[in-house]
Amino acid sequence: MTDYKFKSPTGMHDIFGENQRYFERIFEVSKKIAREYNFEKIETPILEDKKLFEESIGNTTDIVEKEMYDIKTKGGEVLALRPEGTAPIVRSYIQKDMYTLPQPVKLFYFGPFFRYERPQRGRYRQFWQFGLETIGKGGAALDSQIIKAFYEMFKELGIDTLVEVNNIGGDKCRPEYKKLLQESLKSQRKKLCENCKRRLKENPLRVLDCKEEECQEALEDIPQIIDKLCDECKEEFKSLLEYLDDLEVPYKLNPYLVRGLDYYSSTVFEFFVQDDHLALGGGGRYDKLVDLFGGKESPASGGAMGVERIIEAMKGAGIEIEGENKKVFLAQLGGEAKRKSLALFEEFRKEGIPVYECFGGDSLKNQLSRADKLGVDFVLIMGRQECIEDKVMIREMESGKQETVKIKEAVKKIKKKL
Ligand code: AMP
Repeated sequence: MTDYKFKSPTGMHDIFGENQRYFERIFEVSKKIAREYNFEKIETPILEDKKLFEESIGNTTDIVEKEMYDIKTKGGEVLALRPEGTAPIVRSYIQKDMYTLPQPVKLFYFGPFFRYERPQRGRYRQFWQFGLETIGKGGAALDSQIIKAFYEMFKELGIDTLVEVNNIGGDKCRPEYKKLLQESLKSQRKKLCENCKRRLKENPLRVLDCKEEECQEALEDIPQIIDKLCDECKEEFKSLLEYLDDLEVPYKLNPYLVRGLDYYSSTVFEFFVQDDHLALGGGGRYDKLVDLFGGKESPASGGAMGVERIIEAMKGAGIEIEGENKKVFLAQLGGEAKRKSLALFEEFRKEGIPVYECFGGDSLKNQLSRADKLGVDFVLIMGRQECIEDKVMIREMESGKQETVKIKEAVKKIKKKL
């Protein structure tokens, strides 16, 4: 392997070529869907106060325990590269007094996030997410609309998805269930993985979505939250499922779904590729987060999808994204021809006709072979002789037919042929 002087940091990648085309498609589709559902774009800084994440995501979560990139600035602030998008948006909602806007405020984002994870397929240290958030009004109808928007986005990208849903209770019923779960898991403590043994005390709900086999076994006989929900949460959950039925979103109930971040309550959901268990992203209600950050209590709901995972799913579904397909190539030979070709290129550009060119020092032979590879329909050739006569040769690639025209007529001629 080449010994490079510099490489991108571990788990961080350049997005280039084919992957960039997937990225752009996902960005375009997600932006379009977000607008259709009345979400407005927001960009928050890449860095935030580290405490913002510690206090919201939770101290016993993987993100806060081991995955944050933190830095101390020269001024002594302790900042973190954002590991997720919801907490910064809630910070902004409060800081920008968004209560004064018509509620709920509906925001979407598309950007890079950072987690110090062990890099592996589908898991990077810099990854991209697309997210939707509604803050200021809550309820199952809004939850269902967020789920529907994600579902439609996936459909438009060509991915069949299934969304798993659950309700993890609210203030009234969750503490009770937590205790019950703790009790029930205590007797199985020995079976749990090391992480869950630790989590048992602080955050027993996290044991529910632990992927370790030993923990899965321990979960077989535990009480399910759905049976312990208060009337309000039960009603919310019932309404959510009815709305999803009406909106024709295929879903599956997953009583073990809890999501890895502490700020969620009530509705939680996670999207998977149908027939594959590739997780694309998820979300849920976070009615207490604005309050937790010192704002006026405001119900809220949202979710985020991983862009790299979406690309993987699109490739898995055989979706290809063609590169640009321009029909004209402009080749030239000699200093004066280069000068006139640069000007001719501008004429084409102004007319909105896309043209490939090669203004580097390549030989005419190389330029023509490149034009051939690109599969263009027409090559314009300005050699020394044509240049002297203020002309350019137009070659139709398929028939091999050639004609020489005045430079100032070239754009008109090509326009007719296209
Ligand atoms: P989370 O914010 O943990 O709920 O993650 C939501 C989605 O973001 C996941 O389902 C993934 O699609 C994506 N994601 C999270 N962490 C990573 C990572 N380290 N690398 C790539 N994608 C990620």
